Amino acid sequence: MPNMLSNILGNIFARPATRAYPAVRRPPFSGARGHIVFDTKSCGFCGACSRRCPSAAIVINRTDKTLTFDPFRCIICEACVEVCPRKSIAVDSQYRAPAYVKTVEVHTLPAPPEEAPRAAG
Ligand code: SF4
Ligand code: SF4
Repeated sequence: MPNMLSNILGNIFARPATRAYPAVRRPPFSGARGHIVFDTKSCGFCGACSRRCPSAAIVINRTDKTLTFDPFRCIICEACVEVCPRKSIAVDSQYRAPAYVKTVEVHTLPAPPEEAPRAAG
């Protein structure tokens, strides 16, 4: 019993063995494959990434100029990053936040900037 008591007291006053995730997050290691990001400004909607993706996580609609990405299918293999001729896909080292609901991302071309009215004169 005296041995148990010292163990109990030791555990009560010891630092926690794990982080209080998600309040406290460990910074990602350099080069960690956290998640895939797209830059649709430079994307040509050629579909090479979609054809190469082993888990069918990317769907390209060339007519609507949309790239639909399902992050829950993605295994972060980087095949799409390597094949993209325009370097429109990259890997971010930050991991995605946990989610309760599965959603897909729909990326489109950014809207062109609005023209300012010309000054009279
Ligand atoms: S391979 Fe690159 S340029 Fe082609 S659709 Fe995918 S992201 Fe766009
Ligand atoms: S990283 Fe791999 S699995 Fe994820 S979208 Fe790209 S090719 Fe598909």
